[in-house]
Amino acid sequence: MLIFRKPLEGIDRPQMPADVVIVGGGPAGMACALRLSQLIDEHNAKNPDSQLSKENIYVLEKAREIGQHCLSGALLDPRSMRELLPGFEKEAPLDAEVTKESVYFLTEKGKLKFPITPPPLRDHGNYVISLNRFVKWLGSKVEATGITVFTGFAGSELLFDGDRVTGVRTDDKGIDKEGHQKSNFEPGYDLNAKVVILAEGTRGSLTKQLIAKFDLAKGCNPQVYGQGVKELWEVPGGRVAPGEVIYTMGWPLTTKDYGGAWIYGGKDNVVSLGFVTALDYPDPRLDPQRVLQDFKQHPMVAKLLAGGKMIRYGAKSFPYSGWWAIPPVAGNGWMILGDAAGFLNSQRLKGIHLAIKSGMLAAETAFEAVTKGDSSAKTLSGFQKKVESSWIKDELWKVRNFHQGFEHGFWAGMFNAGIQQFTGGRGLRARYTNRSGPEHMKRLAELPADGGAEAHLLGPAKGDGKLTFDKLTDLYHSGTKHEEDQPSHLIIHDTNICNARCVKEFGSPCQSFCPANVYEMVDDAEQPNGKRISLNPSNCVHCKTCDIADPYQIITWVPPEGGGGPNYDGM
Ligand code: SF4
Repeated sequence: MLIFRKPLEGIDRPQMPADVVIVGGGPAGMACALRLSQLIDEHNAKNPDSQLSKENIYVLEKAREIGQHCLSGALLDPRSMRELLPGFEKEAPLDAEVTKESVYFLTEKGKLKFPITPPPLRDHGNYVISLNRFVKWLGSKVEATGITVFTGFAGSELLFDGDRVTGVRTDDKGIDKEGHQKSNFEPGYDLNAKVVILAEGTRGSLTKQLIAKFDLAKGCNPQVYGQGVKELWEVPGGRVAPGEVIYTMGWPLTTKDYGGAWIYGGKDNVVSLGFVTALDYPDPRLDPQRVLQDFKQHPMVAKLLAGGKMIRYGAKSFPYSGWWAIPPVAGNGWMILGDAAGFLNSQRLKGIHLAIKSGMLAAETAFEAVTKGDSSAKTLSGFQKKVESSWIKDELWKVRNFHQGFEHGFWAGMFNAGIQQFTGGRGLRARYTNRSGPEHMKRLAELPADGGAEAHLLGPAKGDGKLTFDKLTDLYHSGTKHEEDQPSHLIIHDTNICNARCVKEFGSPCQSFCPANVYEMVDDAEQPNGKRISLNPSNCVHCKTCDIADPYQIITWVPPEGGGGPNYDGM
């Protein structure tokens, strides 16, 4: 029987008072902490007789080291960083400034270069970065302010008093596979906070609890996610210049699927390449990791990589739906930032700058709440107002209908995108609707048995070990490690559905959409279909796709014991 990870009951937990707890030490959380520190410094300089302390401000980060779980393409639009730390370019780890872009439409063997780069994909002035290194640097700035960053601590539960969020419980450590306490057991802490800020990144687990508890998604468009699968390559000199950016659309995806690829030239002949597949594809057998392997076999890409070596691998989901899918971002005792809220511009494939800006605005609101001694919904709704009057809204409003325009396939999407470009984002109607990703998934009985036009995307990649890789080989390059003897952090609420229904109806898509081989259907003669779900949670790279894309919505991702997960060094 599978035992799932949850906080133990009936345990005495250390209690810690806090002014502000920020859950998640990514770009949003770190920018929030840094801005809060700046505001406290300004206050203290002006008010020698009423000094504020940073002692009770905490950032919780589930990775063992700052930045270890951070993965993105990544291109940084510097707008918010220039507001947060003017002149940051002088000291931040930036690989190269973008000086050249191109966009291609690919067919299986051919390519068509766009004569001009569409405005949303013009990246001159942006920077190629490793998000991992960038966040490490940002985190070191936060630590230098005196704010405590607890690494290796995940937020496992929100604490409530009625409708008010009153704090965060961190994960229990030292629990074995059967749910028993080991000799190194340490209960999680209860951080009783005036303000709780959720900056957990995509599909945050506490954010999900909060949204469900207060029905915050009511009236919003369903959030659709993409899964980005990335490899870092070292290639012979002269292939992709530092600061060169290539985007592709088309092959290997078909016109039924949404997605595209990036290739970014970094320094020292390191190339970041990856493929984003929107998790609203129809065929449950489609495998996004295989999509990347197929993409690399295109003659244009294979030529760039020939003689090179893959050095890192990772995968992550991110929110695609934009403005109409963002829930209320502030309430009684809480705020939500960055990818956790859905602040991402899917047309530009960029969200880091929005995450940072949302962190800054939340810090200003938290500062006001702490100095006034009032963190009620009335005060914290100031964050909602700040977002709506900032350039976050200006930017997202112009693309408010963008991804929804692709609801009926690639060509309809291109048509809608064209009209939206000339109507300030409106398009043919004020608000486009969309279904959630899993609602797009078809049953096997509705699909051609051989996969039809999508046949090349289905099932696991085999890999030749040079240009293409199977999942386990790729996974090895993600540096993923977890404590093996702990309950599963992937909660399947009813495994009978997996064994009796899903295997027959959808062909167990968890085996395909998981980029880390966590889910396997193993032989079991006692099951109705001769197969049983089996999990390898230690492989998990925390992309959250299973929590998002399972057609029955019976999988919940919760943080494993703090410290476990991928090691996205240089990603
Ligand atoms: Fe992603 Fe879920 Fe697989 Fe973990 S188990 S890598 S969260 S799909």
